[in-house]
Amino acid sequence: MLFSVWENWRRRRVLRKHKIPADLWALTIKQVRAASHLSVADRERLRNVASLFLHDKYIELAQGMELTNAMRVRIACEAAIPILNLDLEHYHAWHTVIVYPAQFVSHEEFRDGAGVVHRHRSVRAGEAWHRGPVVISWEDVIENEDANNVIIHEAAHKLDMLDGAMNGRPPIHRSMNQREWTAAFSEAYASHVADVDAGRRTEIDAYAAKNPAEFFAVTSEAFFEIPDVLKRVWPVVYMQLSLYYRQQTATM
Ligand SMILES: [Zn+2]
Repeated sequence: MLFSVWENWRRRRVLRKHKIPADLWALTIKQVRAASHLSVADRERLRNVASLFLHDKYIELAQGMELTNAMRVRIACEAAIPILNLDLEHYHAWHTVIVYPAQFVSHEEFRDGAGVVHRHRSVRAGEAWHRGPVVISWEDVIENEDANNVIIHEAAHKLDMLDGAMNGRPPIHRSMNQREWTAAFSEAYASHVADVDAGRRTEIDAYAAKNPAEFFAVTSEAFFEIPDVLKRVWPVVYMQLSLYYRQQTATM
């Protein structure tokens, strides 16, 4: 209680001094398709959340990139969309965004059941570290003609990790039903894996078949970027995401 009183006071104070300027905000939100379902009032609330995000988090450049104000605001705007009706507190374990100019090489290491350490390199548009930064490729932020949204994807991983495990099951709200969530997601995931394995064309990115965590991140992207498609393909997944994010994104 005391925390929330203090925190609300802090937020009001930050917004008085550091609110994203109206002209830059107007320019940014026009470019963000994932915000197109929001009303004028919701966009104004999003501006507040994005302003707080910018004030609270570090955005760092890799490889000598130059970070403009417009870039910072674009990143904050997209990161704020999933938590617009949750709370900034959902990003408490996320302090830093590292921006690469384009896709980058990631070195992964894991130990299998037999204790053997495997290392591999992969080229990525983004990644989210547990209790660490989110890394994104700027090229992938601005060139999202298809259904992809690298910032929303990595933000979804951050939400998923709030209970410690990245498994496609973020801690859901008390008003939601865990059984319904699991049934919706496991059925859609199984059918997606079957389609991808059979080489069938899918309307939702085939990458979602990699594992349940990627399925949650990719369907979260679809929820904001191509909601009508997601709702048509898997209406129950759309509904669960709508309850979770507390937003209605589809136009149908
Ligand atoms: Zn991912």
